[in-house]
Amino acid sequence: MNLKGKVALITGASSGIGKGVAIALAEKGVKVGLAARRINELKSIEDEIVSKGGEARSIVMDVVDPLSVENGVKSLKSHFGGIDILINNAGLMQASDVDTFRTDEWNTMVDVNIKGVLNATASVLPELIIQHSGHIINLSSIAGRKLFKGLSVYCASKFFVAAFSDITRMEIGKKHNIRVTSIQPGAVDTNLYDHISDKGYKEGMENLRGQMTFLTPNDIAGSIIYALEAPDHLDVSELFLLPTDQEW
Ligand code: NDP
Repeated sequence: MNLKGKVALITGASSGIGKGVAIALAEKGVKVGLAARRINELKSIEDEIVSKGGEARSIVMDVVDPLSVENGVKSLKSHFGGIDILINNAGLMQASDVDTFRTDEWNTMVDVNIKGVLNATASVLPELIIQHSGHIINLSSIAGRKLFKGLSVYCASKFFVAAFSDITRMEIGKKHNIRVTSIQPGAVDTNLYDHISDKGYKEGMENLRGQMTFLTPNDIAGSIIYALEAPDHLDVSELFLLPTDQEW
């Protein structure tokens, strides 16, 4: 896909990977819809993009709420005149053992990491089907391939994303000329660990920073651009991106 002038919706664009992807895509001439709940962060990213000559629009969106997603997609389409790319990036990681029964955290991960992907896909895909083109990128994780103690629900949510991605690809690739990519990174330097309430697991995650050189959001952005810019007949269906010194 030639990216110049295309329109992308990026969920979870207010920080970390989503922010890095938004800035990198805007530099490629993509008109980016920046979606998340924290409007101030979105506005400052929008300002940064616009100050460099790019096009961006901030959209307050809670991916858990189908109406919020639907309204955000409508406003992006009317502002930029269409939509070509969906990047399902919003997500969070909490960690705890199952027998501590942090059911609120389980539910939040199911709501954001699973239902959020479904809500955004259901709002954007009909438009891509009508235009018979487009690309959906889903952020799974190495936790969508391998299992880690403490991450039962997070791993399950990322296995969901990987499975949903590939079956969606099978169903809509040939039929509707729409590509689907699952991006599965290892450790990336972002705020992902901020939501971990279990002290032991939080410390364990933070200690990883001393054991390896984390990937950057820009590393992930580069791989997404690679998938988007691949020739039309090539669907980069899954990409695993790991720090070279990540031993697991
Ligand atoms: P961050 O915490 O930096 O970013 C998470 C983003 O998700 C924020 O922009 C946040 O925005 C958004 N978000 C959370 N809840 C909602 C919601 N209900 N509605 C809309 N947006 C929401 O973490 P990362 O950048 O690391 O995470 C991005 C994705 O990458 C996640 O899916 C994560 O699982 C995945 N990933 C991350 C890895 C890592 O090591 N960092 C490795 C593998 C995968 P706001 O709070 O403003 O709504």
